[in-house]
Amino acid sequence: MTQQPFWQRKTLEEMNRQEWESLCDGCGQCCLHKLRDFDTDEIYFTTVACTLLDNNTCQCSDYTNRKKIVPDCIFLTPEIVNEVDWLPPTCAYLLIAQGQDLHWWHPLVSGSSETVHEAGISVKGKITAYDHEMEEDEDYIPHMVGVSG
Ligand code: SF4
Ligand code: SF4
Repeated sequence: MTQQPFWQRKTLEEMNRQEWESLCDGCGQCCLHKLRDFDTDEIYFTTVACTLLDNNTCQCSDYTNRKKIVPDCIFLTPEIVNEVDWLPPTCAYLLIAQGQDLHWWHPLVSGSSETVHEAGISVKGKITAYDHEMEEDEDYIPHMVGVSG
């Protein structure tokens, strides 16, 4: 009998480091800035990318040193996945935390790192600006693309 893949039989807390890292689909969506309306608590997604996000690969261009260069970069943990409200609904960590399965385009399912781009899930070709180009909070407004929930 074939064993189920790890993401179908383990919780986020049970995954080892290699499994945890491989669970990221490489969409890059969490590396785009969001705006929070403090009156309504709504999150607005933007197409403004973190300065380290590579527009072509949708990967962090200095993953090892990212926290030194971008101090507010958040390292995901199972606790953070369960706490925050700004992960995109397609995020693999969120799907597993919610008891769902991965989609066909996830590299672990498809066997290819390209399918997340082919399915239009990644931010490839969607970045309209970088945060180092923003001078004030208002500069993000023309790059807003939607609201959470
Ligand atoms: S949104 Fe989730 S799956 Fe996509 S890059 Fe970020 S952590 Fe990985
Ligand atoms: S520093 Fe953090 S937010 Fe910026 S691209 Fe790298 S992983 Fe994404």
